[in-house]
Amino acid sequence: MTKDQLTIDQNLCKSPLECGLCLQVCPQAVFKAAPARVYKFRETPEEEYVLKPYYWMACVGCGKCVEVCPKKAITLKVNLSSRGGVVVGQNLS
Ligand code: SF4
Ligand code: SF4
Repeated sequence: MTKDQLTIDQNLCKSPLECGLCLQVCPQAVFKAAPARVYKFRETPEEEYVLKPYYWMACVGCGKCVEVCPKKAITLKVNLSSRGGVVVGQNLS
């Protein structure tokens, strides 16, 4: 049995604050854009934010994030027996 996995290719998802489509469609609010780096006396520039699947444990495997991502940056592999849904999206490219 493969282990559940949701990965984001940071080389493909370069501006999550600008795009944000996966953040909008996810019914479980799994994603969060957070600063990759924090500076002492200034705000982190937008281009230094990265997308993270912070609340991955809440994912129901609907696949909407994979479908909506214009950069094909999200890979989802879910064995749903414990998540109560149906996998419709998997990006292996
Ligand atoms: S598969 Fe569905 S629930 Fe899981 S992170 Fe993607 S959009 Fe959210
Ligand atoms: S939809 Fe894709 S490109 Fe857009 S923020 Fe999400 S992972 Fe990044």
